[in-house]
This record gives sequence, C-alpha cells and structure tokens, in this order.
Amino acid sequence: MLDDTHDAHRRSWVPTANEPGTDFPLQNLPLCTFVPPNDARPRVGVGIGDAILDASDWLPGPNLNGFCALPAAQRAELRRQFVRVLEAGAPTRELFAQRDCALFNPTAVGDYTDFYASIHHATNVGKLFRPDNPLLPNYKHVPIGYHGRASSLVASGTPIRRPHGQLGEGKFGPTRELDYEVEVGALLGPANALGAPVPISEARSRVAGVCLVNDWSARDVQRWEYQPLGPFLAKNFGTSVSPWVITAEALEPFRVPAPAHDAPVLPYLQEPDAGAFDIHVEVWLRASGEATAIRLSRAPFREMYWTLGQMVAHHTSNGCPLRAGDLIASGTVSGPEKENRGCLLELTSKGTDPVRLPSGATRTFLEDGDEVILRASAERAGFARIGFGECRGIVLPASV
Ligand code: MN
Repeated sequence: MLDDTHDAHRRSWVPTANEPGTDFPLQNLPLCTFVPPNDARPRVGVGIGDAILDASDWLPGPNLNGFCALPAAQRAELRRQFVRVLEAGAPTRELFAQRDCALFNPTAVGDYTDFYASIHHATNVGKLFRPDNPLLPNYKHVPIGYHGRASSLVASGTPIRRPHGQLGEGKFGPTRELDYEVEVGALLGPANALGAPVPISEARSRVAGVCLVNDWSARDVQRWEYQPLGPFLAKNFGTSVSPWVITAEALEPFRVPAPAHDAPVLPYLQEPDAGAFDIHVEVWLRASGEATAIRLSRAPFREMYWTLGQMVAHHTSNGCPLRAGDLIASGTVSGPEKENRGCLLELTSKGTDPVRLPSGATRTFLEDGDEVILRASAERAGFARIGFGECRGIVLPASV
C-alpha cells in the first residue's frame, strides 16, 4: 500500500541522499548487515545516500533474519521510524561512510531455491538445445525450480574461483564455459509450518525484501550433468548476493500487473492483483585488464512469467516450510530482445556469436580476471528512483 513514506518531495538531512541519481534516497532505506570501521561486531544498518545508519537499536542481532521474521505491518512501522529519523529537520546522528564499512550477506540463509521464471530466458535457452520445441510442455503450468546450495552463497565482492568439473565422458578439468546469470533474489518473511501451505492471497506478504543474485554457472558441466535431475555442481560453486535488501515496502510504488498468461493457471497460483515489480536489471562487464566496465544487457523484471508470490505459493503448496531469511532467486531475468539477455549463454548463442568489447577483445564465456557487476533500479514518474546498489564478483583462475 502506498503511504506518505513514498512521497517524492520528502528529503533527508544526509546531503548525498538528495542527489539526483542516488540509489538510496529517503524513499528507499535499504537494509544491510555490516561492520563499521575499527569494529568487529556485525549488525544491521540502513543505507541512506552514501552512508549507513546503525540500526541495532531497532533491529538487534548480527543479521537481517530478525527483520525478515517480522509481520508485514511491523516492517512498515519500522520504515516509518527510519523515515522520521533520517528526514530533513530531524536531529543528525552518527553515520558511517559505506566505503569504510564491510558489508556481508544480509541474512544467514537456511535454504536457497532457484527458479526459472523468465519465459524469454527459458525460450532462448530451449531454442539453443531444442530448436523445434524450445519451451517444455510444463512451463506455463508449473513454476520450475530446483534446490540450490546455501553453503556457497557469497557476499558481493567475493572472488569466484573457476571450478573444475566433468566436461563430458572421460574429461575433468576447469570449466571452459563460465557464465553469469542476473537474477532478482527474494528474502523470505515469516515462516510457514511444515504441512501448512501459504495461500496465494498471502504469499506476497512473505517476501520481506529483494536483492540481486548472480547465479554463476559452468555451462559445459551443466550440459553433461543436468539430465534427469537438474543442475548440481554446475551451479553450486559460488552464488553472489548483493548486500542491500530493498524492502517490499519501498517497492510498493512499482507494483504492476504480471504479464497475461495464455494458458490457464491452477487456482492455487491465481494471484488476486498486481503481483509483478517494475524493476530493470543490468549486467556490466569489466573485462580482464580493462579499467572501465561496459553494459552487456538490461532487462525488465516485470515480464517474468511467474511472480515472486506465485513462487512462494508454489514452493509451499506441498507443505514445504520456508523460513525467515531464506532465499528464493527468480531465475535469469531476460526479455524479448537481444539486449535483454541476462547471461552469456543466451547473449552469445551458446558461444557461437561472441560479444565484441570496445577494446577489440571478444567474449563467448568469462575469462579469468573478468569482473561481473549487476545493478538494478525501479523508476516511475512522480516517485523517487530506487536503486539496488551493486553485486560484484571477479573470476579467479582455476586452482592447480
Ligand atoms: Mn539460475
């Protein structure tokens, strides 16, 4: 629901929060888990402009699991309090510069699930492997997902070592087809008990906030191992998570209707109204040895075939318990056009159509020293722009 915390005219006493183009204006107030300089105790903070407010007084504990466990009404009340504290006219307080702080994964994730909710991604990838039959017959009926691995979720900025794996019969070695996937992550709210599905009408209130996820993938390993049980070692050697949780409340102005489905959806997946978010996600590459990053793609999250609410309702429809602070990722966010393709597998058509960089170099898949940077924002006329910060990771050579 929209309220006066979304009023675009409100300003902060933190000057950088009022600069045009900032990711973190007063209307955003993303949460993070951080350690200030000269300290060692992880705690919760609120991002404002280029600074962080220590939020331990409101949200004690070393991470955002406690925040995620709050009912939606209490999350909204906290947002009102943070606005009061940071709004122009309120007494100033001690802040920490973001660049001086260490930022971590926002929650201790108990379980991580990765979906496959972009019909554009599913169709593009399907075409590469099955030109006559790109979309499998279940796609429009069941949100496809698999259980990922929480133990290899890493904070943004953590380097990713090129993994070894089986590359085909009799072949084991470093992957030659290292890829990224730009995804939106949902940090889950209050738990459901084992055996108690979350109805679709309540599902959206079980998303406490969203972040960016890079689901690094070894395509040659994936191709060899994925049938019949889905991805395994091709995707659990490292998954990067951005430090900033954009709260569900901050995203209220950007709720939009999900795309129309042209196949009937079962009642337990029928969402009452606007279940999608109008967010654009971007992938940038700073190629090895280069000083600047270039943008490889930009894609609309609102075009995902399945919404986060539908993913929660589906995931719990058999009684599977989801816990506060768990992570669901959307699957690669791609759109209909070439510039919308959210991974190199799609962008280079399985490595047959290399990306040309301004330096003259080309890429089919990632090389050692390449750095991938994910960004996202939500924009709507009459409202403050909400940014997501960044999710970064640099590729290290395989171990010998
Ligand atoms: Mn993925």
